[in-house]
Amino acid sequence: MASAHALLSSPLRLFVDKERNKVVVGEASADFIDALFSFLTLPLGTIVRLLSNKQTYRSPEVGCINNLYQSVQHFNTQVLWNGICKKMLLCPRNPCEKLCQKLRFNVDDTEPTKYFMCGSCRGLSEKWLSTFEGASCTCGKLMEQEMKVEGDEDNNPKGDGVFVRGESMYLIFDDLTVLQNSARNTVHQLVQLGYTDFTKLTEISPNVGLNQIMELLKRALISASPLSDVFLAREARGSKPVSSFAPRLASQDVHGGDSSYNLQITVSKSKNKILYAEAEEDFADFLFSFLTMPLGSSLKLLDGDVNLGSMHNLYKSVKDLNPSWFGHYRSRYSPLSPLLDLKVASQYGCKKQRLDVVEENRPAYYYGTGVYRNNTCYLSNNGVISKDPFKIQSSSSLMLYDPRSGDGRRGSVGFVRRPALFAVMDDLQVTPLTSTSSISFLQKLKVPLNDLEEHKVTIHKNEALNLLGASLTSKAALTNGLFYLVKKQKEEATT
Ligand SMILES: [Zn+2]
Repeated sequence: MASAHALLSSPLRLFVDKERNKVVVGEASADFIDALFSFLTLPLGTIVRLLSNKQTYRSPEVGCINNLYQSVQHFNTQVLWNGICKKMLLCPRNPCEKLCQKLRFNVDDTEPTKYFMCGSCRGLSEKWLSTFEGASCTCGKLMEQEMKVEGDEDNNPKGDGVFVRGESMYLIFDDLTVLQNSARNTVHQLVQLGYTDFTKLTEISPNVGLNQIMELLKRALISASPLSDVFLAREARGSKPVSSFAPRLASQDVHGGDSSYNLQITVSKSKNKILYAEAEEDFADFLFSFLTMPLGSSLKLLDGDVNLGSMHNLYKSVKDLNPSWFGHYRSRYSPLSPLLDLKVASQYGCKKQRLDVVEENRPAYYYGTGVYRNNTCYLSNNGVISKDPFKIQSSSSLMLYDPRSGDGRRGSVGFVRRPALFAVMDDLQVTPLTSTSSISFLQKLKVPLNDLEEHKVTIHKNEALNLLGASLTSKAALTNGLFYLVKKQKEEATT
């Protein structure tokens, strides 16, 4: 469907400096800009999955998030509560799933949400609904009767843009800065880039399809010139990764509370780095929740402190875009673009993550009784169940199955089965210590045991942010995110 549509018109005109083999400026349609902006909605786990699927070129790695992902892939079923939790981390839901389905170029191929009930227990007074396939019912059967959901229809006009206004053109630059299309913006930017007229610039209209958008996703994570890389085939020459992160050293936030963690870390004295940390269940859940967090949420949290290829320019462009250029789709609760207020998909969050990333509001679900009892549920986001008053009278509310606890019927606890102990390596490879011999673990480290030094650190919001930033941009997440705490402890000990 997308490819037939793609032939209608070229969504992109690029003006190229042939001498330098570089895209200087481009004009893009809303379809194209929507596809780029949708990168921000992708959970980090989805990005790792998409990059490892498509091995057309050597795939870039985003810091060491891929190690975290692969660790979860290798966990046996006893480490997390159930197989659903594992799937949640490996194939996290996009908080803008519905919006992304409207995109002309949608890179997120995660399975759309489906709804299930237990065929045998639908007549009981306590009714459960699951948004995950394969959940087990209290009766011992699986909740596998697929349900339609009514009340979630989309009343917005079609073909009218998703994240940005549909009918407009946009200016785009090689580093993925996006601006409103205006002569003033064009002049200003061209002069800044050192061009006083168009004589040095050649116009091209490249083919744009899902493959090119996928290549752009890859390059946008590691390069400052993704348009040139993809459309002028500069990728082959390779470019140095341009991501960087500056940890905030001063901890303003000293409130303990139940969501700070104490972490036992082991340092190599000779190498001045953190080798590994011993993490209990809450800290492990916090790390794994990076996988369900949308890229845009991470960039918002780390605003100004992180350069991630060109992705931070996309985020900044949304932030700086005049709101009148946003598409018609706004959050029910906010006049902002959904991209500036990205949440973790409902049921995919982590309670004690310390970063104030919230889950999407969960709608209320109802199930008809009597003549209205069928394979349909009713959804309510604002108290209105249905326009049909009889349906309302004869509906009873549904409880939502939550995989993040032992039996799915108590409140969310976390992804990890309790109690748990993990070894988290500097590059975020995670091993469950409960099922691993500690002697062979230490043997694998290949460091003299008298070079090891133990430290106890506390992870507040500031440290949690530093860990996130270091995880996105380096292969030494613990050292780059937390080593300053060790230095501080040593300084305090000597004074
Ligand atoms: Zn049942």
